[in-house]
Amino acid sequence: MLYNAYLKSLHIELSSHCNASCLGCSRTSEFSEKAHLPISPKNLELENIKNIFKDESVKKVDWVYLCGNLGDPLASPLFKEALFIIFEHLPKTRVSVHTNGSIGSQSLWRSLGSEFKDYNLKIVFSIDGLADTNHQYRVGVPWNAIMANAKAYIDNGGHAIWKFIKFPHSSHQITEAQRISQEMGFKEFQIREPYDQDRVPGKSSLESIKEFKSEYRPYKDATTSELLRHFSKKGKETIKCQAKEAQQIYIDSFGKAYPCCWLGNLGLDRRSIRESELFFRHVTKKYAPNFNSLYHFSLSEILKHPWFSKSLVDSLDNDIEDPTNPCIPTCLKHCKNQSR
Ligand code: SF4
Ligand code: SF4
Repeated sequence: MLYNAYLKSLHIELSSHCNASCLGCSRTSEFSEKAHLPISPKNLELENIKNIFKDESVKKVDWVYLCGNLGDPLASPLFKEALFIIFEHLPKTRVSVHTNGSIGSQSLWRSLGSEFKDYNLKIVFSIDGLADTNHQYRVGVPWNAIMANAKAYIDNGGHAIWKFIKFPHSSHQITEAQRISQEMGFKEFQIREPYDQDRVPGKSSLESIKEFKSEYRPYKDATTSELLRHFSKKGKETIKCQAKEAQQIYIDSFGKAYPCCWLGNLGLDRRSIRESELFFRHVTKKYAPNFNSLYHFSLSEILKHPWFSKSLVDSLDNDIEDPTNPCIPTCLKHCKNQSR
């Protein structure tokens, strides 16, 4: 079994809309530097949100993470309503929101501060520089809107965190950014390494991110056998499933549930093929396409589906070339464990 009777945490993509085109985002990678998705973006619908939080399996959830692969949670017109639903069902849960900070009206941000200050809501503003640098990675994010929104939220009682990814083009501004964050009343200032650094050792500049993304383009037309060759399991590599460890599930803005965000985009009909996309389709073609859809099943029913309860778990012990139930390359890539 991947999941016990009760989940511990949820990662939800409320929206696949966004006003930005951050260079490392799934919205832009593999395609172009403009935020052009090969699918129509969508918001998780009200009925989906209500049904998730009414479900027996979420009764013990103590962390809800509102982020996602393709969009900014504030882009959902239901953002505030979703918070009310979450706290109605789980009043003590911790809710973390990740945003570029520029979406939403001043009155929305004021109300987020005042109406949720007695709940455990933390909004993480991803701000990787100052007025002259933030937009170099966070393409299209207007600086003045971030500052005004953060101020409206904080001044009305909201708990805000400034997350700064340490890019070479802005790392010299960390001290000044931290000073501004304290002056504005941010509760925390977090410094993070660029997320691509582990995948492109020694490289973390904007140029290297573009270079990294262009390396994926040849996979656009890769065949299954080419992908298999590239991602074959090596030696004694085993997999420790982080979704299982955390008892966390990922729900995307299209109402589909996956164990984690790494598998979250793979079911989409995209023009480009990342390392597992084609393979994931191959693995799941034996199931009805909506086996993980909240439009067709409750969350509890999805968790009990044979793919979640058995097939995926068993596949983790198999090689990527196993003829009946192969390991998904993404699992190998993200959850590889060298020692048994
Ligand atoms: S703000 Fe988030 S969703 Fe929007 S482009 Fe940037 S990383 Fe992607
Ligand atoms: S990538 Fe695979 S092994 Fe890792 S958390 Fe997701 S489902 Fe589990």
